[in-house]
Amino acid sequence: MEQDYQGLEIIADFINTYDRRMRYEGDPGTECWVVPEDLKHWLQNIHYIAGEEPVSESDLALARKLRAALRNAIELNPHDRGPDVDVEPLEKVAREFKYAIRLEDNGDKLEPLHQGGKQGLGHVLALVYEMRRKGLWRRIRVCSAPDCQWVFIDRSRPGTGKWCLMSACGNRAKNRAYRERSRVSRS
Ligand SMILES: [Zn+2]
Repeated sequence: MEQDYQGLEIIADFINTYDRRMRYEGDPGTECWVVPEDLKHWLQNIHYIAGEEPVSESDLALARKLRAALRNAIELNPHDRGPDVDVEPLEKVAREFKYAIRLEDNGDKLEPLHQGGKQGLGHVLALVYEMRRKGLWRRIRVCSAPDCQWVFIDRSRPGTGKWCLMSACGNRAKNRAYRERSRVSRS
């Protein structure tokens, strides 16, 4: 089971590369992928592409599209937003990918039929497919705090967690308190 959650962690990390946590009022968030090279490093880190594989501007645009669509497709608790879950953008992005089926003893795999960055993104989408098939997708969540929206894995037994790891939200609160304090001490 922990092995399966690792797949979700990769997807959460993918989505969190556009970090929407607000550090100040009106903070638009932090984009980790500014140039194609940033995406390349991300894909290399998880061995979804080899070092010499090229990553283009259009790969970067596709990555951002896939990322936004994935965020839309995350299922929140029914008592949060329920029917708002929108998988249509994800289905639309998915149509841009082609796959072969690789038959393997320990579970068949979708093999993206692309080169370079797009191949790497194809692996991400294949992982989403796998997680959904395994019924694990409901474990990936968006933090309910409007100024957070961090994507996290809900490991709680009932699977009804609404908030991201307290360490992330907790640090944020601490930073805010620190800024408040230093502002007070300066004045
Ligand atoms: Zn949070």
